[in-house]
Amino acid sequence: MTRPMLILIALILLPWLPGMPLFWVSLANQIGISAIVAMGLVVLTGIAGMTSFVQAGLMGFGAYAAALVAQSWGLSPWLGLPAALLASGLAAVLMGAVTLRLSGHYLALSTIAWGVSLYFLFVNLDILGRNDGLSGLPPLSVAGYRLIDVRASAMVIGVSLLLSFIATRNLLNSRWGRALHALQGGEVAAASAGVNLGQARLLAFVYAALLAGLAGWLFAHLQRAVSPNPFGLVAGIQYLLMAVLGGAGFLPGALLGAAIVVLVNNWLQDLLPLLLGAGVNAETVVFGAGLVVLLQAAPTGLWPLLARASAMAHHPQGRTALPAPSAPNATELLQATRLHRRFGGLVAVADLSLSLHKGEILGLIGPNGAGKSTSFNLLSGVDHPDSGRVMLAGTDATGLAAPEMAKLGLARSFQHARLVAGLSVIENVALGAHLRGTASPLQAILRRDRAEEAALFATAARALDRVGLLAEADRPATSLALGQQRLVEIARALAASPAVLLLDEPAAGLRHAEKQALAALLRQLAASGMGVLLVEHDMEFVMSLAHRLVVLDFGTVIAAGTPAEIRQSPAVIEAYLGAAA
Ligand code: ADP
Ligand code: MG
Repeated sequence: MTRPMLILIALILLPWLPGMPLFWVSLANQIGISAIVAMGLVVLTGIAGMTSFVQAGLMGFGAYAAALVAQSWGLSPWLGLPAALLASGLAAVLMGAVTLRLSGHYLALSTIAWGVSLYFLFVNLDILGRNDGLSGLPPLSVAGYRLIDVRASAMVIGVSLLLSFIATRNLLNSRWGRALHALQGGEVAAASAGVNLGQARLLAFVYAALLAGLAGWLFAHLQRAVSPNPFGLVAGIQYLLMAVLGGAGFLPGALLGAAIVVLVNNWLQDLLPLLLGAGVNAETVVFGAGLVVLLQAAPTGLWPLLARASAMAHHPQGRTALPAPSAPNATELLQATRLHRRFGGLVAVADLSLSLHKGEILGLIGPNGAGKSTSFNLLSGVDHPDSGRVMLAGTDATGLAAPEMAKLGLARSFQHARLVAGLSVIENVALGAHLRGTASPLQAILRRDRAEEAALFATAARALDRVGLLAEADRPATSLALGQQRLVEIARALAASPAVLLLDEPAAGLRHAEKQALAALLRQLAASGMGVLLVEHDMEFVMSLAHRLVVLDFGTVIAAGTPAEIRQSPAVIEAYLGAAA
């Protein structure tokens, strides 16, 4: 059991200490319910990078569903729980379908709009009791015993918080958790590893909504009444503040942030009327200002400052790597025909044709700005050609998105390494094997994915070993030197066990011995049948390694042939080699 779990269990038992004032217990209940909402925001905002002001509204769906089931329809309050989860989950799916294409500030703004709309929905629906809401909810009861005492509620809330914590931790330590981490800055790399970004975003949004729904159900039965006010935009801002205050990427931070905001809120409600007179709801201003100051002063929140713990997650150990997928039959692995790509008036790639065979190392060279990286993007689905055709392992892959290309057996690295900042080195590599796992988010939450995870990590460890970085497996990925980050990207590509490997300047920033080791590895991969296409500036390196070379200048192929032929080509000498010499 981890320390945060032990602390949570201790907290659940705390209300039963003799002499514990009931007022404190009921504050603790508020904190617990809020922490569940905030935990969803830690996932959604802290980890997946999507700011949401609508969590209170989603909590409202859960609370009203609970009230309808238990009060209006007179069914068991326990039936209200699945109803609450269904209501908030469905609301999130519908909202997500129209909202999640937006990103950054636009997404945040649209959740504000949702927050306001949901509040008016609650206020205006007759079935929800309009401004008065629904009251007279029965308390939860267990085996005929009605949980009316606040300490009994504290048990239910505490257990819910504990289970939420475990479920969330399990989700984050899975292939889906790695995908969620990648949504903050690692989108392109994740898509190239086969992650469906839209699906991952929806997962984060719906998961956070389910936690909000759970909190709504608890809230409804704790208050025994539901009205619109706790589910408006102001509450939405407070939940966001809790998540950010505690430490947006840290689960225990949700509890810390919830405790601070609930306690301060309670204190302000006593204090502000004395200072400003009654009837001025100045808490919102104080919290809004608090959020702004906090984001300036401690953008990572308080938890990392307190716990000094950005300790990397533990992952299951295993020795058995995944079996290699069957290699494609086609000997021509990758074929580009007459690719064109223009950016405004600039023709970045003009009429590029090339083909890459099984077991071949093909070098793509040319001066800076020649269009090499753009070509890579066209070949890997990161960008799409204006015209021309891409064939991948015998399949027409023109216009396919990066995850589809990954499914067809292509893996790549980037000129500027794109490692996911919140993950360790080995987790970044395991992200590359995303498509080789099959566990669903639900299986991950229930820890039914442990054997698969162990195999994924064994595969990742082997790939890391091949690039010589196994010793760094548990370091934060972005703490490595840039050259090593490139090697991690190569390992990530290898973890997919691809048929075609595209490497954009893999040797840049490497020392001589590291380059030698990389060359040996690439030869080995080619000998095993992989097709390797690489862009490289180090002429000595690429000339000694590649079987054939294609030379680009201003987006056009000016020469193609063996290294010896290229060395002799007058066009190449003029455009490139001459200038280098
Ligand atoms: P290389 O990798 O060979 O150095 P690039 O493919 O990165 O060259 O760039 C080729 C040309 O296309 C350059 O002139 C570059 O400025 C331009 N370019 C690349 N990407 C974009 C983009 N997204 N928008 C506009 N221009 C771009
Ligand atoms: Mg480039």
